[in-house]
Amino acid sequence: MTYEDLKPHILKCQALNAALTLFSWDQDTEAPSQSVDNTTKFVGVLTNDYFEAVTNPEAKKILMALSKQELPLPQKAVVKKWLKDIKQLEKIPVDEYQAHQELLMKAQRVWQQAKITNDYPLFKPYLKKIVEDQKRFAKYRQENEECLYDVLLEDFEPGFTTKELDEFFTLLRKEIVPLLKRIQESPKQIDKSFMNREYPIDIQRTFNLELAKYIGFDFERGVIKESEHPFTTNFHNHDVRLTTHYYLNNLESAIFSTIHETGHATYEFNIADEITLTPANQVSMGRHESQSRFYENIIGRSQNFWKPLYPKLKALFPKQLEDITFDHFIEAINKVEASLIRTEADELTYSLHIMIRYEIEKKLFSEEVDYDTLPELWNQMYQDYLGMTPPNDTLGILQDVHWAGGMLGYFPSYALGSAIASQIYDYMQKNTDIDKWIQVGDFEAIKGYLREHIHQYGAIYDTNELLVMMTNEKFNAHYYVDYLKKKFITLYQLKDCQN
Ligand code: ZN
Repeated sequence: MTYEDLKPHILKCQALNAALTLFSWDQDTEAPSQSVDNTTKFVGVLTNDYFEAVTNPEAKKILMALSKQELPLPQKAVVKKWLKDIKQLEKIPVDEYQAHQELLMKAQRVWQQAKITNDYPLFKPYLKKIVEDQKRFAKYRQENEECLYDVLLEDFEPGFTTKELDEFFTLLRKEIVPLLKRIQESPKQIDKSFMNREYPIDIQRTFNLELAKYIGFDFERGVIKESEHPFTTNFHNHDVRLTTHYYLNNLESAIFSTIHETGHATYEFNIADEITLTPANQVSMGRHESQSRFYENIIGRSQNFWKPLYPKLKALFPKQLEDITFDHFIEAINKVEASLIRTEADELTYSLHIMIRYEIEKKLFSEEVDYDTLPELWNQMYQDYLGMTPPNDTLGILQDVHWAGGMLGYFPSYALGSAIASQIYDYMQKNTDIDKWIQVGDFEAIKGYLREHIHQYGAIYDTNELLVMMTNEKFNAHYYVDYLKKKFITLYQLKDCQN
């Protein structure tokens, strides 16, 4: 048996997956609201077909044979990834898996209701059941992992267990919590109320589409639409789609969504042709997020980036930005402000929101948890780390959809992404002209460098392997802490003595 025998099976899985992705994209962007019930039936049929194709006995036989052969690296990665997927699917009894999917669908509806009415007790039994199910599934799947939570972490960022994450978040707690406190006590005030003036949406749209093009979005191989929550999806490296969202009274929201999602899209455009239509195109969450945050925060919130762009923005909004200097604009897009809502958090406090969710998820998986007092635990951590207590559960423990959707173990990827981005930036500053590229808008150079060292490989290597190949070092959270301290100590003119 050869790899050629596997190819029709790969294509079938990819085609069915693409059909499912297309329905999901359509539902979020263009589909009429009344289409859901009937369309869901199509999705059900396709989902079944997809799982049958992935677990097809003939494909499995070929995969087993190939796993014993010497293969080129991309092919080896495909075989390894696919066998891993099959193994996971086979370990959970089908009826339990289906019951869990139904639970999640119901839980998301209940969560939505509970969030609107500030009713944690309504959601509580669902959360408890979801965690119990996932603990049981983790036990079925557990191999060498030290704890059950590690099984879930592996799904989102392979190679990062509670051991690495404990070290990471301990460092953040030690360094970032006190830094935030110093910023909150500093006399420096940044006024960003001008961001909430009226910015006509059609002009915002003009700017954002130009902006995406400027930073390298390829409109021949991608499209940009609008949706409630911005996201990026892809079919292959010649069809990548993203959304952004415009608000009349918020200039920066769409801008940073566009830059963030273009970071994700760039990754997908750059995946090599030989793996784009295979399972080895599925990059882990944390690493994908490292690229979106590299674009959004490291490039998009820098002075260098805005030097050529701010005059253009000002020309489009001459009245609204009339009294806003370049320096004022830069300070505004970097303002630190502790808040209760993760998705609205600034660059510095974002990871603290994640730390709270990580600590709670760990508790859910490791010990007997008192679900009755979980909201109090949440609120206490917000007080301890961010200096504020949520007035209700809607703004507290009920704010994110992730747990209702069964995505436990996902949150840490967001913080890891930011930290990986800082490590890559540090290396690029020492070894490339990255800051100059950003200032002159040479996004071909930036894209080319990231393609060569990261993007082209898709999921062939794990994150630590890639970091070692690129920066000669495994993941090291100190780069992130150093980056944040340097940036915000300067911005808030704090004395460096406590450094
Ligand atoms: Zn993202």
